[in-house]
Amino acid sequence: MSNKAGEIILESRKKLVEKIIKNIEKGDLIFNKNWDSQMMMPQNPVSKANYLGGNRIRLIAETIDKGYKDPRWVTFKQAESNGWNIRKGEKGTLCEKWIFSKVEKSVDENGKTIEKEIKLDKPIPNYFYVFNAEQVENIPKLEINNYTKNETNEIIENFISNSECKIKEIAQSKAYYNPRTDEIVLPSREAFKSQEDFLATTFHEMVHSTGHKDRLDRDLTGIYGSDSYAREELVAELGAVFLQSKLGIKLEGEHFDNHSAYLKSWIEILKNDPNELFRAAVQAEKAEERLYQRYAKYKELNNEKVVENGKFEINKISEKEDKLLNTPKEYEKKNKTKIPKKKKEKEEKER
Ligand SMILES: [Zn+2]
Repeated sequence: MSNKAGEIILESRKKLVEKIIKNIEKGDLIFNKNWDSQMMMPQNPVSKANYLGGNRIRLIAETIDKGYKDPRWVTFKQAESNGWNIRKGEKGTLCEKWIFSKVEKSVDENGKTIEKEIKLDKPIPNYFYVFNAEQVENIPKLEINNYTKNETNEIIENFISNSECKIKEIAQSKAYYNPRTDEIVLPSREAFKSQEDFLATTFHEMVHSTGHKDRLDRDLTGIYGSDSYAREELVAELGAVFLQSKLGIKLEGEHFDNHSAYLKSWIEILKNDPNELFRAAVQAEKAEERLYQRYAKYKELNNEKVVENGKFEINKISEKEDKLLNTPKEYEKKNKTKIPKKKKEKEEKER
């Protein structure tokens, strides 16, 4: 049974990667940037969980394919128990599930049954099916918040000022992270078509910066054109899209990071091993989480609660938070990096 599930999962991974390769060949990067970012955060309205890793990519790809305008997904059982109905003829989308432990029952000397959780040497693959909210009748309407220009601007400022490495905005046309100097260089923001473009590029470079050896320690030594270079680019691109979708920022426009140059190598590494996409997704999520947590912590210190995939809520101050609030100056001092004004600089290795 488990072997069969493994085969089914691998087959579905292959199909997904083929689909993504087709997108890349069309020049769409991983995902088409015209898609609403809120659709890029597949979530379960019953369990309140977000789908992660490979399942996240799977459900995003399906959303794009079918043109869904709803990021919610439920299982047949969940729909049924909530009085929602799956429309006739609708097909579910496969998600993978890995089982890492099992419960073993034994009887102790008093005849009592004891349950013990045992970690498995090798996780067991399994799968389940989910349906998009648009395939479901009677499900409550989806509410979506959109950011105003000021709110987007605030997000940009908060991310930049909380970056773990220096970020420089310089009047030139390249965006890159330099692992040697641990610095991000961006074109000045006036050069971008929109705030969202600027944010997308900033996020991409910030994801690279999480790969630094003192942070998530990814291989950043790959030379241009190598597999490890392509892999890191895939992580950065996925991480930026993940972060934008988590925040509910519009995905659009062009990047300053020179993508077209590594699309070919992405296709190669994905064709050689479809699992590369899933590995990259896991790495991208780690980076996303690290960047997001710093940001959320900062908002928290400023007494604003971050609502994922939507706007902020102002908290009522509790005693505990009041304590935290006494330290924001220090926190800011520790984390803020000044952005030097336009200054000419030699071009560093691009990332
Ligand atoms: Zn890059």
